[in-house]
Amino acid sequence: MNNNLNLLLKFFSTLLIIISFNVLFSQSNTDQFTVVIDAGHGGKDPGNRGNGYYEKDISLKVALLVGDILKKSNLKIVYTRKTDKFITLNKRADIANKYQADLFVSIHCDSHTSNAFGAGTFVLGLHANERNFRIAQKENSVIYLEDDYNQKYEGFDPDNPESVISLVLMQEEYLDQSILIASMIQNNFVQKLNRKNRTVKQAGFLVLRNTYMPSVLVELGFLTNKKEGAYLNSKKGQIEMSNTIADAIIKYKNRILKGSTVLSNDIVVDNTNFNNLSLKIQIASGSKFLPLKSYNFKGLSQLTFVKSGNNYKYFFENTDNYNTAKKHLIKAKKSGFNDAVIVAFNNGKKISLDEFFKLNPD
Ligand SMILES: [Zn+2]
Repeated sequence: MNNNLNLLLKFFSTLLIIISFNVLFSQSNTDQFTVVIDAGHGGKDPGNRGNGYYEKDISLKVALLVGDILKKSNLKIVYTRKTDKFITLNKRADIANKYQADLFVSIHCDSHTSNAFGAGTFVLGLHANERNFRIAQKENSVIYLEDDYNQKYEGFDPDNPESVISLVLMQEEYLDQSILIASMIQNNFVQKLNRKNRTVKQAGFLVLRNTYMPSVLVELGFLTNKKEGAYLNSKKGQIEMSNTIADAIIKYKNRILKGSTVLSNDIVVDNTNFNNLSLKIQIASGSKFLPLKSYNFKGLSQLTFVKSGNNYKYFFENTDNYNTAKKHLIKAKKSGFNDAVIVAFNNGKKISLDEFFKLNPD
């Protein structure tokens, strides 16, 4: 009897160990942090050809390197492409959704007719200015190479700045986390590699529209810039850029798993004019994120926001002309924002009006 009881106890404790092992095992499996790495362009779509380089090749090399590093840190990596092939923008999002990824990172290189250089990181949003629109337009125009693009993208027109408005809603849920990882990548570019800071911005990138997870698009730099193009095309440049992206993703993962999405830096999203002075009308602020929709802001449009710590500041309009800004202020007050004020920015950093007049004497 005693023997039987012992045997029974042994049997149950073994069973318990097996069960708990299985639970642990299956948990660690499903809990594995999954990152989808999306190398921009591919196949018949070369991306930009600044200085004769191929954006599709550079983005793929960097994407594969980022994945290699992250795999060593026990993250699960899914690539949208591992070879030189054409993939539609929707398909890229489908892959990310299918794997229920925790993060989607799309990798690109920029181009410009000027000597512009520097690295920038984007989250989905309304393009608050011409420059952001142009970047998104370039990355979105690939849909012209897809069959039935009109149907697939519900009439989206890459050449129309207004066309982006319908895109924004789906990603809003993940905006805080997208901004967090974007600013971590961007800080790494600047602090570790001394890349010129083109800051975190919002614009209407189609590839970010349909993903159900925090999603960012990295513009590593400008292939059209002689020095930066050569750097990004070099092994050294690709290793350095991928190291810093992977480092940011690992830090982000650790913060998310600890449940912290609080941003430590001031002015994280900078939608103000490219290299420029701008005047905006601050109409509201608060700790809650309000989608930038007219109906949330008494019918006003041309809305942007800046997140500082846990506080959101909301702005209306954007100009570098003080008289125009005064007209915007009157419009904001007439709409019911009695406490609205004019706020000046220089390269995305808030400055006083005095400083603004010094820098912009006309
Ligand atoms: Zn691109």
